[in-house]
Amino acid sequence: MEAWRDNIRKVVPYTPGEQPKDLDVIKLNTNENPYGPSKKVESVVSDPDSLRLYPDPAASDLVTAIAEYHGVDPAQVFVGVGSDDVLAMSFMTFFNSNKPILFPDITYSFYDVWADLFRIPYETPALTKDFRIDPADYRRPNGGIVFPNPNAPTGICESVEFVEDIVKDNPDSIVIIDEAYIDFGGETVLPLIDKYDNLVVTRTFSKSRAMAGLRIGYAISNKTLIKALNDVKYSFNSYTMNRPSIMLGIESIKDDEYFKETIGKIINTRERFVNEIEKLGFTCPKSSANFVFATHKSIPAKEIFDEARKNNIYFRYFNKPRIDNYLRISIGTDDEMDKCIEFLKSLV
Ligand SMILES: *Cc1c(COP(=O)(O)O)cnc(C)c1O
Repeated sequence: MEAWRDNIRKVVPYTPGEQPKDLDVIKLNTNENPYGPSKKVESVVSDPDSLRLYPDPAASDLVTAIAEYHGVDPAQVFVGVGSDDVLAMSFMTFFNSNKPILFPDITYSFYDVWADLFRIPYETPALTKDFRIDPADYRRPNGGIVFPNPNAPTGICESVEFVEDIVKDNPDSIVIIDEAYIDFGGETVLPLIDKYDNLVVTRTFSKSRAMAGLRIGYAISNKTLIKALNDVKYSFNSYTMNRPSIMLGIESIKDDEYFKETIGKIINTRERFVNEIEKLGFTCPKSSANFVFATHKSIPAKEIFDEARKNNIYFRYFNKPRIDNYLRISIGTDDEMDKCIEFLKSLV
């Protein structure tokens, strides 16, 4: 066999949720926000001629808007093409030792992909039976720690004190807290970045800001770690954020009223939905996200998933150990969730 075959980097890529071509389905499989972004973004019908110019490589205006929103210095903010980009850059920048990094066995399924891609050794301590992180698992030598809070796909949020203990107990490692879903009811650990120099918090515009199609994510930390991230980014691809994304992102940040209103609606719908499906024999851990992780007492999850799909309702199903009898159901509009409840009723 040709020797070059051995030189190809071999990776098993991340599998995203299905994006059906037909937009007429009830799509509850990728945690998108049903309400769409603030209508203020419509005012940014940009001068098309400006697109001939490269964007600002530092995306400074967006960085400044995010910094002001969170009350931090712009030098503490790093933006990227979705938080996937921010997380990939963070893995490359911060997880650079020979010791294994740690993340839970049940978590965002991109982490092991990046670790494999960048050849970072890793260990995945098992969540407890009720899908909680056991902090004792994070008190051993490691090359870094990462987990989402709330965790995905369980929706469970740990307290600030809980996260703080892990950050405090690991002064020699960088701890990344992926707050993709924090706006849906959890308490952010952002204030801890002033207290600990080993903490990085990542966020995304994809879920709570309903802008998955734009690709905006960011990290907040101290200036030293943000500079390290920027140094890696500028060694790879400088112009990652395109002009429309920078402008539209700023408009979204400005419309805080709309942001809070839609989040409130999603939280209310979630609570109502959980209530209804519990009556049908489903259970799910208490969710602080825009999805619930549900299992039924008698009908296998895979069966519900297949039947729902036939009825044009899309859930997410993970054929993985320990979670293969669960469905991750994104929270859509009230109308979508009513149809979903009707369907589940008819099935049960
Ligand atoms: C959706 C998600 C992301 C990535 O979001 P982007 O669209 O790339 O910003 C990161 N982490 C978790 C846990 C997610 O669920």
